[in-house]
Amino acid sequence: MSGADDVKKVAVIGGGTMGNGIAQVFATNGFDVELIDAKPEFVQRALATIGRNLERVAKKQEWPADKAPGILARVHGGTSLDVAKDCPLVIEAVTEDFAVKKQIFLALDAVAPAETILASNTSSISITEIAALTKRPAQVIGMHFMNPVPVMQLIEIIRGLATSDATYALTEDLSKRLGKTPVEVNDYPGFISNRILMPMINEAVYTLMEGVATREAIDTVMKLGMNHPMGPLALADLIGLDTCLSIMEVLHVGLGDSKYRPCPLLRKMVAAGWLGRKSGRGFYEYPQA
Ligand code: NAD
Repeated sequence: MSGADDVKKVAVIGGGTMGNGIAQVFATNGFDVELIDAKPEFVQRALATIGRNLERVAKKQEWPADKAPGILARVHGGTSLDVAKDCPLVIEAVTEDFAVKKQIFLALDAVAPAETILASNTSSISITEIAALTKRPAQVIGMHFMNPVPVMQLIEIIRGLATSDATYALTEDLSKRLGKTPVEVNDYPGFISNRILMPMINEAVYTLMEGVATREAIDTVMKLGMNHPMGPLALADLIGLDTCLSIMEVLHVGLGDSKYRPCPLLRKMVAAGWLGRKSGRGFYEYPQA
């Protein structure tokens, strides 16, 4: 396997919220990026988003006029997974659905050279299970970027049961080359971030459901008392209540402990379509523009 310095080009599969951020960060740090989505219009949307985000950074950091266009020019859009043929690292960031990821990993495993590393940005799906779909489980790893990717410092690097030390070392080196801070995590449901964050959010929902306090009081206690930048109910609205519920289900099923049972109020709000900011209503109201 090559070293991190030999990696000049990466492929990012899925150009949504996370994929376009991941592509932007790699391109900003000098890598060529193949950004792949299912349809040409999705690719165009992702490239336009990266262009806008780079312009915003350029203005804020007073970049020379040619810098942002130069970075954007390093991102090549497309719809074919064949790009994996000449990328030593492929990062999958498609929808959080095992069936969709399975199809992508089977296809990537078929086209990518044997030494290529296949990484997933999944928030909750088992890296060990994804790796077992392929003929290269030692070269499958989790690279869990945080949202918004260009801003957030952390990358959780998740080792599946079969992930090799060489795969881990290269992924860690590359994360540092992006100016990020990698943290090593073994593959268990929720990794570190969601294993700790989601039960806290779930407990905040129980606290509201049981009438212990109002939404504002719960968020104020966690902001001013614990120095969190955002209260847990406001954060749940930002993440999406459906996403919070599905991660709690992963923890509950995967760890088999009743302490991870999703709060009935969280279930009820998701059933009502109150998903947080994206639907205009969650624990708070968000008038749609
Ligand atoms: P998203 O819905 O914004 O984007 C998913 C993208 O995948 C879409 O552009 C979609 O068109 C594309 N896609 C779907 N099927 C595809 C296919 N077969 N081939 C190519 N592209 C396909 O989702 P997101 O929020 O960017 O999440 C992506 C991944 O990142 C998920 O695994 C999620 O759990 C993880 N993640 C999300 C966050 C977050 O805060 N949103 C944070 C960390 C990790």
